[in-house]
Amino acid sequence: MNPILNLTYEPSIEKFLGDDYYDIVAAAEFPTHLLRWRNEDVLEQFGLEPSEVGDEDFVEAFGKFQGREPLMAMKYHGYQFGHYNPQLGDGRGFLYGQVRGIDGKLYDMGTKGSGTTPYSRGGDGRLTLKGGVREVLAAEMLHRMGVRTSRCLSLVETGEGLYRGDEPSPTRSSVMIRVQESHIRFGTFERLDALGRRDLIARLLDHTIEVYYPHLAQEESRYSLFYAELSDRVATLVAQWMASGFCHAVLNTDNMAITGESFDYGPFAFLPTLDPGFTAAYFDNGGRYSYSNQPGICKWNLQMLQSPLKHVISSGDLEAGLSGYEEQYGKVYRTLMLAKLGFEVDFEHGDDPLARELMKTTIELLHKSQVGYHEFFAQLADTFRAEWRSDATLILSDVEVINDEIRSLFDQWRDYYFKMLNSRSEADLEELGKRLKDCNPEVMMTRPTIEAIWERIDQENDWSAFYELLRKVQGRSV
Ligand code: AMP
Ligand code: MG
Repeated sequence: MNPILNLTYEPSIEKFLGDDYYDIVAAAEFPTHLLRWRNEDVLEQFGLEPSEVGDEDFVEAFGKFQGREPLMAMKYHGYQFGHYNPQLGDGRGFLYGQVRGIDGKLYDMGTKGSGTTPYSRGGDGRLTLKGGVREVLAAEMLHRMGVRTSRCLSLVETGEGLYRGDEPSPTRSSVMIRVQESHIRFGTFERLDALGRRDLIARLLDHTIEVYYPHLAQEESRYSLFYAELSDRVATLVAQWMASGFCHAVLNTDNMAITGESFDYGPFAFLPTLDPGFTAAYFDNGGRYSYSNQPGICKWNLQMLQSPLKHVISSGDLEAGLSGYEEQYGKVYRTLMLAKLGFEVDFEHGDDPLARELMKTTIELLHKSQVGYHEFFAQLADTFRAEWRSDATLILSDVEVINDEIRSLFDQWRDYYFKMLNSRSEADLEELGKRLKDCNPEVMMTRPTIEAIWERIDQENDWSAFYELLRKVQGRSV
């Protein structure tokens, strides 16, 4: 018996929400099925022993899609680049099944590239192999950096030639399995509002709270509390992206999960250097989803969600729920940036002016010098020594400074860093060094790295660099 098919699937959506939310679809039949990635971490998350799950089991379940039904293309709407689009829904994917992890939480397995659906809108329903490779890498890297994110369970190459405007075509095809807490999106609520199905909004909220916010289920004002917590979760998520130097690129409301986790990595990029205007999607002409617009645009998305929610939550409660967004964002961002610098600072209980100055100067230095964002922190982690605490000139002594302006900024930064080190005890330094390594992986996932990996796959069908990088990111020895 295939251990994947043998998992206990819980028909949560069908059972609690009924058939208003999906169409039953069939997967495409593909000419070939080559398993290119299987995520042992995620298997373990479902209580499966990786050595007991064969590659052929993956192919049967996640390439040929044999032995499971119903396969449900989910219905949703959404604001795309600011314009409401009622013609959305899973156009190249479906919900494969819902399974409880060993942590007791319910997870969705969803597909990407599994064929056309009633929502394909003229698209081919397919995923390019490069697109699949990129999403696997993005999700693993974000997970490694502590971001609440979906992960890919498998990637199967499917042997078709696809035509795309943004890849040399024909280009290779794939089908991916994505695991995340929920595929219910802001757009799932927006659709109910647009269709005038107010009767269903409270039901969808009840379901969302019961499964994904169970600690609120018994509260009398659970709807308002849910919206406030979602706002908090989204603010936290965006702070995690920003500190990780991540630009999602397509923050439409159909790409916003109701759990406050991130998913759907298309034209994303990890910043090369700290450039607030950096925009990852070539088709994002106005820079709507630029790096530094992310906090504001996610707040806008939360505001748009108020339209469906206002039928069941008072406007005062909605406003109050969102009012803590900036503060939460700022708190988490500061905490994470200081952790990247090696320091644990508790902004929950009072301020720390020196820590703030250090962070401000770090950002200014990264911005003005245009030094590599990830390289800067990786070098800090790599070269950190306990002696830095007694001699400031040793701090990042190897860096080359390009001009006088940057030199004086760097000196100022070094001064703050030295003072911060001296605000900690000698005994804290070991922990500090560990935190630096932990928060700043050696592995980069900027575009040149991903392109180099893809080139080897594309030109020589050589997957070794892809596996090597993922091994490092996942911290696996083999
Ligand atoms: P995305 O920008 O990837 O979130 O996609 C937005 C919408 O377009 C979703 O409804 C997708 O399912 C759909 N879509 C994207 N690419 C394709 C494709 N190649 N074929 C069919 N639908 C697609
Ligand atoms: Mg999407």
